Parts: sequence; C-alpha cells; structure tokens
Amino acid sequence: MQGFLEAVSLVLCQEMCRACNEELKVDLIEFLNSPKEWKELNRTTLCECCFFKFELAAPLLKIVNVENMAPLLVASRLPYEGPLKKMLYHLKYDDDRLVVKDLSLFLSQALDDLAKMVRIKDCILVPVPLHWQRLLKRGFNQAELMAQRVAYSHDIRIDKRALIRTRPTATQHQLGKQERRVNVHGAFQARKKLVEGHHIILVDDLLTSGATLASCASALMDKGALSVNAITLAYAVQGHTKALGKQKSAK
Ligand SMILES: [Zn+2]
Repeated sequence: MQGFLEAVSLVLCQEMCRACNEELKVDLIEFLNSPKEWKELNRTTLCECCFFKFELAAPLLKIVNVENMAPLLVASRLPYEGPLKKMLYHLKYDDDRLVVKDLSLFLSQALDDLAKMVRIKDCILVPVPLHWQRLLKRGFNQAELMAQRVAYSHDIRIDKRALIRTRPTATQHQLGKQERRVNVHGAFQARKKLVEGHHIILVDDLLTSGATLASCASALMDKGALSVNAITLAYAVQGHTKALGKQKSAK
C-alpha cells in the first residue's frame, strides 16, 4: 500500500530534470516492484541525457600550495558552469536536497580520482564547515550532505566535528586572489583529539583558488593531522566564477 502511495505521489508531483527542465520519466511498474531500499535510490533529479553530459565533463586534479606544509592535492569532478551551477544554487538557497544523491555520485568519482594518487583507506572525510550562523539559516551544510553519501559508498569514516569555522567569511568567488587568502586566513580551527595522527580528506562543493582548503589544511596540520588532501564536486572555470551565487554569501 505504501509503495502504491509513493507511486501516486511520483505521478502527481512529477519531478523535472534540474539541468534541462524536461519531465523525468518514471517507470511505475519498475518502481512498484522494486524493494523498499531501492525506491529512494531510483529517484533521480537528472535525465539520462544530462547525466551523461555530466559524465563526459573533464575532471580536474589541482595542487594547492599551503604555507609551511606539503602541497594539497585536490580532485574535482565538474566545471562550475551551466546546469551544475543552477543545481548547487537551488540546493543552497531553495533547499532542493533531492539533488544531493546525484551530485554525490560525481563527488564519489572525484574521490576515485584522488585514490589513484593517494591511499584513501583509513582516511577520514572532513566536510568544510559552515559558520554556525550560516548553518542555522540554511539548516544544512551541503558539503556535509554529499560527504555522508560518499563516506557510505566508499566505506570510509566521516567526521563533521573535526573542523570549526570560527568566523563568518565572504563568498570566495566574489573576491580577488589576495582577498580570498585574507578572507579565510585563520577562519578555521581543528579539534586535536579528532585529527591528531589521522590522514584527512577535506570535502567541499566548490574549488575556486584553493584558499579555503589551504586554510582548513593549516588548521588540521597544526593539530597533528598526518596529511591533508581534498575533493570537491566542482571547480571554478576562469571567467565564469561570478554567477548565481553573486547576490548571496555562499558560506
Ligand atoms: Zn536533463
């Protein structure tokens, strides 16, 4: 009965592809026959065509230099442009959390890319935290939501308490290179008992200059982390970094 009601709700509340606005096709027979735990997995926010386009996008592997420590290796999966920019905007400002499942699949691919360069087994995923005021206003941290799914799919630990953002910061992609560094310098603190002696992989939604990740890495290494690398869902494309998030602060 519950499955039937869910199917009715799928028909009545027809979801649209978040990238191209086409109606998403739902195979009701397949949906009704699938086990309970598959029902949620079967829900998607991207049509096959848009999903395929995302799959074809070029990933990025970037080295971010951090003062007084080894450089940070960052694997990022999708260019921050077009439909993806729209999806992240709706996730952050319109609470469209259904997109998290699809976006997490691409973030998982970034972790697979990182795993080709560094050993990820025994690492801890640490989502870049929001300042508590921002978290209170938004109700969730998008990096954390995605990191939870990636941790589950790769069977590795996640610790959302390892880092704290100690002060609010402006959106990085609205700032110049030097301003970005100043904006996030000293903005994070790590909890020694949670990070000491551990290899850390930072998780964020967007990579711009890498200043935020560098600041997080400094805080983690200060408290005894053995190594820090990072994955992000998206990377800013030169000349396309100022966009939908322009009017509002992202963090
Ligand atoms: Zn589409």
